[in-house]
Amino acid sequence: MVHGKARLCTEILSAGTQCTQFALRGQPWCRSHAASSQRERNADARQLIAMIRQMNVVTVACVLQNTVYELRTKVIPPLHAQAIFDAAASRLEHLIEEHAQLTSATAAHRGDKSHQNNGLQVVPIK
Ligand SMILES: [Zn+2]
Repeated sequence: MVHGKARLCTEILSAGTQCTQFALRGQPWCRSHAASSQRERNADARQLIAMIRQMNVVTVACVLQNTVYELRTKVIPPLHAQAIFDAAASRLEHLIEEHAQLTSATAAHRGDKSHQNNGLQVVPIK
């Protein structure tokens, strides 16, 4: 008795991992990814997540706003929103680290000649 080898769905999820559902007979996809509209949505989420890695604070904020809206209006499934939120959170973490390094480097090079106030200055303790 020969069982067909159980194949997994070939779809890559928005978070970048492969789908863990079994593929339908004669198809590379599982039941939820058999529809091309589903796969397109997945591809959109993956693309957005790749873009988030290059974004600045303002664009990440826009993405978060849109994603919350799309989640609320059920345009995207919670799993996609989760993957987008995760990507946004790690991007923000990276940006905050970068900013901290930048401000400490600026402070070290500033000396006493700059009195420019950019609104983000930390008053040195005397
Ligand atoms: Zn699948």
